Amino acid sequence: MSDTINQFYHDHGNHGAEHAECGTVGLVDRLRKAGLRPTRQRIALGHLLFSRGDRHVCAEALHAEAQSAKVPVSLATVYNTLHQFNEAGLLRAVAVESSKTYFDTNTSDHHHFFIENENRVVDVPESQITVSDLPQPPEGMEIGRVDVIVRLRPKS
Ligand SMILES: [Zn+2]
Repeated sequence: MSDTINQFYHDHGNHGAEHAECGTVGLVDRLRKAGLRPTRQRIALGHLLFSRGDRHVCAEALHAEAQSAKVPVSLATVYNTLHQFNEAGLLRAVAVESSKTYFDTNTSDHHHFFIENENRVVDVPESQITVSDLPQPPEGMEIGRVDVIVRLRPKS
């Protein structure tokens, strides 16, 4: 999957800044390579998600962005699309609470701060956290990855 994403950035870079549709062309390609049909809604939401650099968004926030961008889409569709993007490897879900999932446009391995009073997720570079003494996985299993969420609150 990371090959697909690297390929996207590679292709994207070659178009040059003068192509106004460059972002959309790259996105259609990227959706196809991830096995998703490039529907108008997926393209519109993908554009909102991926055109602003690395970010962490929840369904409600993306729905609000879509509404201000006059993209006619329901919250349920936003929710489904985010989960489809996650399953296709275009996003990585960061579940900070059972009821609250953020979607990360940066799918590389890294950890997170969660600022509880602001409901905000911030990246922590993987190199800044060392996880040691991991439990032995059960027979026939291996550790896929380790996600650390460091929860922050203002000093009392
Ligand atoms: Zn992140």
